Amino acid sequence: MLVLKFGGTSVGNTQAFAQVAQIVKRAREKDPKVVVVTSAMSGVTNTLIHAAQAAAAGHEQPYREARSDLLLKHQLVAGQLIEDGVERAAYGRLIDERLRAFERLCQSIYVLGELTARGLDVVSGLGERMSAPLLAAVLRGQGIPAEWVDAGEIIVTDDTFGGAVPLLEPTCARTQARLRPLLEEGKVPVVTGYVGATVKGVPTTLGRGGSDYSAAILGACLNADEVQIWTDVNGIMTADPRIVPDAAVLEELTYIEAAELAYFGAKVLHPKTILPAIEASIPIRVANTFDPDGPSTLIVREASNGGSVKAITAIKHLTLINVEGRGMIGVPGIAARTFKAVAGVGANVLMISQSSSEQSICFAVPEADTPAVVAALEQELAQELSRHFIDRVRAMHDIVIIAVVGAGMRGTPGIAGRVFSALGEAGINVIAMAQGSSEVNISLVVSENDAEAAVRRIHDAFFGPPPD
Ligand code: ADP
Ligand code: ASP
Ligand code: MG
Repeated sequence: MLVLKFGGTSVGNTQAFAQVAQIVKRAREKDPKVVVVTSAMSGVTNTLIHAAQAAAAGHEQPYREARSDLLLKHQLVAGQLIEDGVERAAYGRLIDERLRAFERLCQSIYVLGELTARGLDVVSGLGERMSAPLLAAVLRGQGIPAEWVDAGEIIVTDDTFGGAVPLLEPTCARTQARLRPLLEEGKVPVVTGYVGATVKGVPTTLGRGGSDYSAAILGACLNADEVQIWTDVNGIMTADPRIVPDAAVLEELTYIEAAELAYFGAKVLHPKTILPAIEASIPIRVANTFDPDGPSTLIVREASNGGSVKAITAIKHLTLINVEGRGMIGVPGIAARTFKAVAGVGANVLMISQSSSEQSICFAVPEADTPAVVAALEQELAQELSRHFIDRVRAMHDIVIIAVVGAGMRGTPGIAGRVFSALGEAGINVIAMAQGSSEVNISLVVSENDAEAAVRRIHDAFFGPPPD
């Protein structure tokens, strides 16, 4: 059994939908059991979120405009690809109903002047609830017996709105109960990516880019032979091709390498995608919808190819927090209290670095969490600050983490040296660095202004032409 996930650009317009239908057809020739997971059409989730935020800020125009833009966008594809009049009319009614719900939601947000995380999940999940029925109808038009399924019925999550955590047991039970019969009948379930619902049925989302994660969850629950992530690039590359145009496709990666890359900003995979696959040992393939016979990446437990550095990524919109002071030397428990305070505000720490003299601890957190983190630290460490054991808690804004990833870096000397000389030659200042003992990843902090140059320089040092 195969799970095929199509991202936003893969269902971005009529040509893309037609291409997806071909890919699904070919997959069914290889394996009669195919589950499809789809994202919203490209740009739709952003439009929905912006409209809801604008409504909360007192603007009605954006959601009115969004309603007609979204209607046009979906109806255009339906009009061009659904030939059957009854099918087209049925989709017309569905889209109308969805968009009326959208307008009603935005109206309430506008009247209340408030947008809760729970409300935002209802709005932002509408995109997939418009694209999945459309894709199913398009597939039926191509002779593929498809049926769309709302993941709210099968992916059960907690109530962390905006980044809900799936509860595996009920999710797998419901997935099997709902999808297995369809597969047995020879049907192709077309499941909405990105969304789920709490046990009580309240809609949730898995976080931006979460459709990859949806596909991996369903793949694990159904014990799929492969989860395929169909996107707009030929697999996972040595760097983001938007930053490094001559980045190369990686044929094979290990779960650990792919997880590190995704965690440190390689947008091609949602950071949590690998987790369900690892547990069930399911290979993940990343391939290009617009070049289905071209190269692709296979992610497996153990990669056969060697190589030390595999790829370079950058993660933006971060702040580096420094807790520093001579009085910290030898005082036990400062680190523990620091991270307890950070955890208390729910902030995600992406990297930690401590100097050996213990005069400072620094760590990176998302920009959005910075005020809460600083306030929590100032409160937790108030005594040490007033006694000047700790000089200050300092936030350095607009920094990025550059991650150099590759399992083969372990035991290969000189990698860090090459990274630093590449940056040194370009006059790029490294603010902090960290390397885990697993040696799969070297992380460097540089200023946001230097981010793209740093990625290019390091990429050149490992993958560029040899210097003359
Ligand atoms: P989808 O809509 O299919 O989920 P995304 O936009 O989420 O697609 O992810 C694909 C994009 O990820 C690519 O267009 C590319 O710009 C970006 N990307 C970032 N890092 C990498 C990388 N290392 N390899 C490939 N693509 C990358
Ligand atoms: N549509 C959602 C988003 O734009 C989920 C996804 O595309 O994976 O974030
Ligand atoms: Mg994506």
